[in-house]
Amino acid sequence: MLSKQKLIELFSKFPTIGPRTASRFVYYLIKLPREDFDNLLTAMKKLREDTRICSFCFNPYEKSDNDSPLCPICRNPSKDKTILCVVEKENDLLSIEKTNKYNGLYFILGGVLSGLSENDIKKIRIEQLEKRIKDADFKEIIIATNPTQEGETTALYLQRRLKPANIKITRLGRGLPIGGELEYADEQTLESALEGRK
Ligand SMILES: [Zn+2]
Repeated sequence: MLSKQKLIELFSKFPTIGPRTASRFVYYLIKLPREDFDNLLTAMKKLREDTRICSFCFNPYEKSDNDSPLCPICRNPSKDKTILCVVEKENDLLSIEKTNKYNGLYFILGGVLSGLSENDIKKIRIEQLEKRIKDADFKEIIIATNPTQEGETTALYLQRRLKPANIKITRLGRGLPIGGELEYADEQTLESALEGRK
């Protein structure tokens, strides 16, 4: 396969990128001055080398000298370790963290359910989530999936699946735009959704 075509295919796999945008990326790269191109390559390599995935919540974080397997949030002693907020993806965690209205731990599911087949369910980190809950002493689990159809399916599934753990399970309150995503919600809306959880 031509290298141009190959790269278009690879970019098309990026979130929200279709083949048309992917091919624009490729033309951009072709025209990029050599030095900028090399900088980009180095930055991408460094990103992988310097980043680690948290062994508790799956949040990526920059490696530091203390060599902890936990991200800065999980190893922050002032966090409330009795409350767990389950989100779909990294950006949702960041949005909630930015509100400063939540002081507990997180868990990144790594996806959402579009259906309830075994294959769908394999796409989210449900077994790891169950294990985290079993190994800890949470008093509340907040399901903070996005107010989309898939987010709703996922939330209902989680509520059912986590029921045997016998822990209070809450959902974000109303006010988030239906079909929207947490990462695009303004802080005020997200704050009141957190406060209004039930
Ligand atoms: Zn973590």
